[in-house]
Amino acid sequence: MDRLIEGYRRFRKDVWPAQRARYEKLAEAGQRPETMVIACSDSRVDPATVFSAGPGQLFMVRSVAGLVPPYGPDMGYHGTSAALEYGVRVLKVGRIVVLGHAQCGGVRAMLEGPQEATDFVPQWIEIAQPALKCAHAAKAGEDIQGRCEIEVMKLSLANLLTFPWIGEAVRSGGLQLQGFHFGIQSGVLAQLEGDKLVPVT
Ligand SMILES: [Zn+2]
Repeated sequence: MDRLIEGYRRFRKDVWPAQRARYEKLAEAGQRPETMVIACSDSRVDPATVFSAGPGQLFMVRSVAGLVPPYGPDMGYHGTSAALEYGVRVLKVGRIVVLGHAQCGGVRAMLEGPQEATDFVPQWIEIAQPALKCAHAAKAGEDIQGRCEIEVMKLSLANLLTFPWIGEAVRSGGLQLQGFHFGIQSGVLAQLEGDKLVPVT
């Protein structure tokens, strides 16, 4: 059995009839998502599932560790930056969420090396290098991976502000930046407040 095709058939049978009007409206009027989410590619952390969001609600970019690079327009292929530009300048989202998560393989690769993934992953996770001081500063018994997941989210949020049109939109009050962290095992979402994660109730 092909799971993808079976899943699609369930979608057509169970989801499409109830959602049809919504899709048709979105096709006609275009998307107007209020929130952009930057998340890890990890298959266990699906922003649409965590936020119970339907089609048209979340403009999304997913990558290894959900990193945001600093603003650096050049001839490189900047997938995340291109999505940010489209989301902020064209769609004019009102909020950007950086969604980190527990047991992040991308963060583990930063701490332990990227294993077999040697062509592109090392350069990509290099973005987080400034955030990894936490690993060196960690005390015995401290959850280094968890600490680094927070530091990496803080770095991504700080890098967002290096994009001039994001900085401008934040200063004018038209754009809000937030960090959230999802616990895969607990199913608990926590919001980043300063250096701490505060569970959302
Ligand atoms: Zn991850």
